[in-house]
Amino acid sequence: GKRVLHAKHYGIRRDQLHSGALKVCDRLQAAGYDAYIVGGAVRDLMLGKHPKDFDVATSATPEQVRHVFNRSRIIGRRFKIVHVPFYDRDGEEIIEVTTFRSAAEAPTDDAGRILRDNVYGTIEEDASRRDFTVNALYYDPNREEILDFHHGVDDLERRQLVMIGDPAQRYREDPVRMLRAVRLAAKLELTIAPATKKPIATLTSLLENIPSARLFDETMKLLLSGKAWACVSALRAEGLHRSLLPILERQLDDPNAATFIQRALENTDSRLADDKPVSAGFLFATLLWHDVEQLWKKKEAAGEHTMPALVAAMNEVDDRVSKRLAIPNRYGAAMKEVWLMQPRFEQRAGQRPFRLLEQPRFRAAYDFLVLRAQCGLADKALAEWWQQFQYCDDATRSSLIANVA
Ligand code: ATP
Ligand code: MG
Repeated sequence: GKRVLHAKHYGIRRDQLHSGALKVCDRLQAAGYDAYIVGGAVRDLMLGKHPKDFDVATSATPEQVRHVFNRSRIIGRRFKIVHVPFYDRDGEEIIEVTTFRSAAEAPTDDAGRILRDNVYGTIEEDASRRDFTVNALYYDPNREEILDFHHGVDDLERRQLVMIGDPAQRYREDPVRMLRAVRLAAKLELTIAPATKKPIATLTSLLENIPSARLFDETMKLLLSGKAWACVSALRAEGLHRSLLPILERQLDDPNAATFIQRALENTDSRLADDKPVSAGFLFATLLWHDVEQLWKKKEAAGEHTMPALVAAMNEVDDRVSKRLAIPNRYGAAMKEVWLMQPRFEQRAGQRPFRLLEQPRFRAAYDFLVLRAQCGLADKALAEWWQQFQYCDDATRSSLIANVA
């Protein structure tokens, strides 16, 4: 049954909301529609965290929303969403407005077209089609009330992540919910409720049917959650890493490679905590390095030259990964540059170290070398040499080079 709660009792005030989200709710309500802040933002406010974006759910259809906000645009085909842009001193912020959706998936033909237009529904139906109870809270900033249809507030207080409805069925409808469970539990420090967790072990292979672009998006959310290492450990504990990145299995089974990944991810987590930028290319470079290195060494042992062997190893790993995960080119290119620079650190004669220093990706590649050295995957003295070489004058550099030979 539905519960109506006073937002103030939970420390939620209107002024904590993004002004754009407030305006959207105000103007939709003034036009006679229901409108609520919904999903992750309400959950995060209840936990005393700063929401990263605000979503609005409304009884107005996308076309009706479009009429209320003249700068808005409708996006999406199957499920239309309206983007309402706002501008403030931090730049553009987009509020996503979705119409209450019916719980049932609309019947479609073979081409995926909706046969019967029962996409939209009541707020109760909208709440039921959401994934976890803590994600199905609706906040009305004008009445300062929270509508809770599935005991989400109780679950938040008990720190439990609970699937709405029958967990196994909900995972079958959308296997990505398994990844969301792991990510949200790690990020919010919630426990996945036993009944919500239990079916995952038997359903992991369903992820194999998810398009590689969507898997990539979810992987990025995991890696940038601020709890990346906790997420990857939990993925492994649930057996989900195999369907996401089969290649991760061997990396995590190798103690040195696992330490390497752990350090890289913990480093990412603390950079994010400090609001520093992180590089996705660098992250994928660390996640896949173990396999690249093993293949590379195998090819070298078979008589191939260092660079062609590395290039071939990189391409093989990239091919294998891209079957499951569509890593966009801009990240893939950065990842490969970091890998390609690793053997070049060893070539310290003549002008080569100077040229390497000029490379735009030097810093990332050097950080990668240091990480390898820290985990026993590269020569510590080599990393130290480059540490010195970077920060001294040209005369000292020349003597450093002379000392190597
Ligand atoms: P985050 O903090 O990562 O943004 P979120 O819960 O807000 O977490 P979004 O992807 O922004 O995640 O989704 C917004 C809301 O949409 C969720 O809170 C949930 O109610 C609903 N939702 C998102 N993905 C799904 C899904 N796969 N199945 C059911 N409901 C979903
Ligand atoms: Mg969100």
